[in-house]
Parts: sequence; structure tokens; C-alpha cells
Amino acid sequence: MTAIPATGRARADIMAELAARKSGDRDWRRGRLAVYFYWLDEELERVQQEAYLAYWTENNLGQRAYPSLKSLEEEVIGMALSLLGGGPSAGGTFTSGGSESIFLAMMAARNKARAQRGVTRPNIVLPDTAHLTFDRAAEALGLEVRRVPVGPGFRADVPAMAERMDAETVALIGSAPNYPFGTFDPIPDLAALARSRGAWMHVDACVGGFLAPYVRRLGHPIPPFELDVPGVTSLSADIHKHGMAPKGASLLLVADAADREWHKFESRAWQRGPYVAYTTQGTRPGGAVAAAWAAMMHLGEEGYLRCARLIMEAKAIMTAGIAAIPGLAILEPSDLGIFVWRATDPALDIGKVAAALDAEGWLVGRQQEPDGIHLHLNPIHREVAGEYVEAVARAVAAARGGAAGRIGANERTY
Ligand SMILES: *Cc1c(COP(=O)(O)O)cnc(C)c1O
Repeated sequence: MTAIPATGRARADIMAELAARKSGDRDWRRGRLAVYFYWLDEELERVQQEAYLAYWTENNLGQRAYPSLKSLEEEVIGMALSLLGGGPSAGGTFTSGGSESIFLAMMAARNKARAQRGVTRPNIVLPDTAHLTFDRAAEALGLEVRRVPVGPGFRADVPAMAERMDAETVALIGSAPNYPFGTFDPIPDLAALARSRGAWMHVDACVGGFLAPYVRRLGHPIPPFELDVPGVTSLSADIHKHGMAPKGASLLLVADAADREWHKFESRAWQRGPYVAYTTQGTRPGGAVAAAWAAMMHLGEEGYLRCARLIMEAKAIMTAGIAAIPGLAILEPSDLGIFVWRATDPALDIGKVAAALDAEGWLVGRQQEPDGIHLHLNPIHREVAGEYVEAVARAVAAARGGAAGRIGANERTY
């Protein structure tokens, strides 16, 4: 077992050891992963790091002490609201990540339905492509999860979801887009349904929030999913995904700021006095807020459009290249920079192709259903899109040649 060392080590020694340990990690700066990271260039990296460092230990719980953090947080929320259809009464909360944003949305939906509709056995209805973090939140919050198979084109089947709703349904969920396929659910239809039943409508735009509006401006068809769609109650958008901020930054936005009260905790049942929190955290990293603000300020709309263009170009190169390799096909449709490819030739074992790619240093994301390979692109993939296609061609040849090893779809690859 490791113990705290009896005597401390020097800074240089510590840093040398960290560098040595890190040297075996995957080379994400060279685009060898299509999961977990988002990277544009060294200038943005420095902006993120220096902004984080400027607030590296400031506690965002203590906004009395750090009014600057309060103003930075408010500006981040304001910029996101203006991008994502927030009207004059909209509001938002800065959280640690998509999972926390979604947890708070589900908690608010439950609390509101309990208070206003007397719901005691709450359930949520969602397409089966929705992120599993909804199930995790539901487990903690005592919600029954009703996952409904998606319809054609991997999009939510609205009539089937309507069927599964009842008087105890507290929330309806749609993704913009979902993670398994990168497709958008029909948010206007879902939101109209939620509204007609008095349920909370949550849009999971963790992936799409800071990318889809710019992809739309480039001329790609992106359906409406924002806060101004009638019936939408809340929307989660991760700044630490396509908002291009370092980790620990997401937003839960609400069309009506009054709905924030449903995920507020407030008590004075101890000696120290009142305690109020709108998130699941107490102490919160100020660096995450400062770095998110700095990334948004540095990129501007122009920078986000550049990211969107690079991603969509990378996707076009990769999908055309892969589709041209005999025995492979791209799963259609997909609306953003997420896509799945698979083997259409039954003699080709996609698990072996995955193992061959892995052996070349590409970290492979295996899709369980249908059996395939999943990519979630970020701007750096534009530079390596051609290399990736060549690597796939070599991996297919290796798999056909009977190279040893395979990566199964049931291995934990997320
Ligand atoms: C990443 C993601 C989440 C969860 O966000 P974390 O930041 O990983 O907690 C939720 N929904 C979708 C669609 C995501 O891609």
C-alpha cells in the first residue's frame, strides 16, 4: 500500500516523476483519441492554463470574498444564454460537468412535480440513446427510468414516449445530439408533448450546446433545440466539451430563472448559520470558471466557427475515406462530429480491426450496438483525418490477414 512519504520531495523531483509517468499515456495532442479531450491549438491551451492558474485555489463557494468570480460566472452564463435562446427571464447555474447539470435538472423536475402536482412515485421518460448519467441521477433521486427505443434515424419516437408517460412522469428528455449516434431528437415535438402533460422538458445539449449553433451557421441542417423552443424547461451544455474549456465546466440553463429554486438547497439547521447551494458541490474551483470565461473570450464567435469548420471537414474526410474501404460502412445519419463505422462484410471481424488500430496507438471507442467503432471528433482531428483513414485501411488488411487480438464490443470503452 502507498503511504504519504515521511519526508517531502523537491518540486523538480516531483515534476520529473509526473512527466515520466505521463509519457506512457495516449498522445491526445496528435489526435490519437476521439473521446475524452478537446483541443484546438497551443495558444488556446495557454489561455486555459494561465486563466486557471490565476484562480488556481480560489473557492467559488466564497463569492463574498471573490466578487470577480461572481462576475466571471455571470458573464459565462450570460454568453451561453445569448447563444442558446435564453430570453429575458432565463437563468443558469455553473456546474462541474454534464453529469452534475443533469442531476440538478432531474432533482428540480422531481421537486417541482412533488410540490405542484403531488407526485410521490416519480418517473422520467427518455429515448434509449440518452446518456446513462440520467439513470445514475435517477438511482440517487428515486426516479423510475423509462427508456424508450428510438425510431428511424436514431431519433426519439415521440408517440412511443407519449405512451409511456403517465400522471407521475416528472420529466421528458431529448438529446441534442445523443452520444451513441450523434443524432438530434425532435426537440420541438418532445417539448410540446411535455408541456401538454405538465412535465419538465430537459434538453441534453452537453455535446451540442457550444458546437451545433456554429455548425448550423456553416449551413448544415441543425434542428431547433434551444431554450426558446416552446415547452423547453432546461438545457445542459458542457463548456468543457465543445466550449473548449478545461475540465470541470458545464452549465444547467433554465428558460425561467425561477426554476433554479427547485434545485436549491437551503438550511440553517446547525450552529454556523444559513447555508445555501444551487449545485451538489460546496467548495468549487474558481479556476474552472476563470478558464471557461477565458476560453470563450479568446475564441469569440470566430473561434467557435473555426472549431466547427475543422470538425465538419475532418468528419467529411474520414467518412468518405472509410466508406471507400471495401467491407466498411458509415452508419447514417449523424448530425455533428460524432459518427459510427462498422463492417458490412461478415468475414471482417471489427474487433480485430479495433485491435490493429489500437496497436498503432489509436485509442478505439467500441460501439456495442450496432457492433462498430465510435468517434467523437474535435478540431485537432482535421490534421490527422487522412492519417486515420490510412490507419483504418491498414487495420482492415491486418484483420483480414488474421492478425492476432481483438477488442470486444462489451469491453469498457467509454
Ligand atoms: C458527456 C455527456 C454527458 C455527461 O457529461 P460529463 O461532463 O461527462 O459528466 C451527458 N450527456 C451527453 C450527451 C454527453 O456527451
